[in-house]
Amino acid sequence: MSKETIKTDICIIGAGSGGLSVAAGAVQLGLSTVLIERAEMGGDCLNTGCVPSKALLAAAKQAALHRKKNIQGIEGNEPQIDFSKVKDHVIESIDVIAPNDSVERFEGLGVKVIKENSRFVGRDLIEAGNYLIKAKKIVIAAGSRAVIPAISGLDKERVFTNENIFSLRQLPDHLLVIGAGPVGVEMAQAHRRLGSEVSIFTNREILPRDDQKNVVVLRNVLLEEGIKIHEHVRVKQVKHLDTEVILTIEENGKSLDVSGSHLLIGAGRKPNLEGLGLENAGVEFDTKGVKVDARLRTSNKNIFAVGDIAGGPQFTHVAGYHAGIVIRNICFKIPAKVNYTALPWVTYSDPELAQTGLTEVSARDLHGDSIKVVESHLNENDRAIAERSTKGLIRVVTDKNGRILGASIVGANAGELISLWSLAISQKLKISSVAGLIVPYPTLSEVSKRAAGAWYTTKLFSDKTRNIVKLLQKIPF
Ligand SMILES: Cc1cc2nc3c(=O)[nH]c(=O)nc-3n(C[C@H](O)[C@H](O)[C@H](O)COP(=O)(O)OP(=O)(O)OC[C@H]3O[C@@H](n4cnc5c(N)ncnc54)[C@H](O)[C@@H]3O)c2cc1C
Repeated sequence: MSKETIKTDICIIGAGSGGLSVAAGAVQLGLSTVLIERAEMGGDCLNTGCVPSKALLAAAKQAALHRKKNIQGIEGNEPQIDFSKVKDHVIESIDVIAPNDSVERFEGLGVKVIKENSRFVGRDLIEAGNYLIKAKKIVIAAGSRAVIPAISGLDKERVFTNENIFSLRQLPDHLLVIGAGPVGVEMAQAHRRLGSEVSIFTNREILPRDDQKNVVVLRNVLLEEGIKIHEHVRVKQVKHLDTEVILTIEENGKSLDVSGSHLLIGAGRKPNLEGLGLENAGVEFDTKGVKVDARLRTSNKNIFAVGDIAGGPQFTHVAGYHAGIVIRNICFKIPAKVNYTALPWVTYSDPELAQTGLTEVSARDLHGDSIKVVESHLNENDRAIAERSTKGLIRVVTDKNGRILGASIVGANAGELISLWSLAISQKLKISSVAGLIVPYPTLSEVSKRAAGAWYTTKLFSDKTRNIVKLLQKIPF
């Protein structure tokens, strides 16, 4: 059967966070738009990533709040948990958001949605089912998936990843988690609080890209909650038995067997490059993903790549940011470029761990020892004290002139507090801007102002300033 040819201004491969944002922007700006998706509309974030993980964490937080006995006069109780019903809550959360990403919504906007696998068959030509799409511009937004590490004995059919863990209806007795980035840590805490035994294994420390002083606060909470954390270990072997899985690990030079009921892999992501036929379109790629320049153009200048497949930071807000860059390039012919200097990211554990810009370590690498780091702790924040939620701190890194380079926050609502610092970095503000803010009392935001104030404390209350003030008192005013 001959294929139907569609000529279009723009064709997008993948209807996840990146592809959907490009499609919505392009069609509303008047471009004829084709969007191709081989699986679920919404991609990873909606179906197997951000949304189900945050819904599961929310249930876990409720359970933890029930148990808490930290405010006098309120007795904590062991909550009754029906894990299967918790999964209904997860599915309902997806269902409520799904219409935003649906075929119906996008067709309503005027997008031609094709639900097929697709691949390049030429430099401007894509094959998808019975269609051939000839596009002036093409955007690859095909995403990524979990890396399954090559470990002796590991059967990839018998492990869990983000793709199937959310459909598990029975609470794991003992969840073994390989990998301790945001996905591994979030899933570990969620399952622990819902009643599983949990053990984490990583060949580095947990959350290695975050500020390690702040990570200590989170690690201590995870340990207090009963999660076993094995850092700097090598998983040598996996043995799958009927209802048991056994990991042989090397820890402190010794071999150790740890047995659990389920194995979850959260050890990094790999780009969905297979089968895309990139070589037919002259699009270069490597193991990290499609190679792009700062304008997100590939080696074929009419083809762009966004989101996880573009080899950069892998977050939904990055995919959305990429979409904006591509829309400016394609629709407005503005040579917009990516800039990650104020990129925030959050691990939605409890306490949350948030980062924007440079950590102390990366700032020292770039700027040397002239950087300055100031801190403020939540146990000195009145709102945190009233709420008995005092675990955490903020650390802010500046250059020697007070220009803000990065901020790291661990504590309740750290993910909400971090945006102020992203704005400050993106606008190249000095720390005086935050020190001079009027912040409502009592809020957690005061921790930001207080850290900024700390930058000036030694200078302000010095003998030199006191002498100046004394002199000034002699002048009539
Ligand atoms: C457990 C977990 C939790 C996460 N939590 C967060 C979070 O809290 N915050 C955050 O910012 N990020 C989070 N992320 C990361 C976030 O999900 C991704 O960064 C984001 O989904 C990437 O969007 P994307 O559009 O690049 O790719 P995807 O969402 O993966 O979409 C790609 C789409 O392309 C389709 N596709 C692939 N190849 C083809 C083809 N050949 N033809 C047709 N269609 C194709 C796929 O089916 C898929 O639907 C999380 C990830 C995981 C795994």
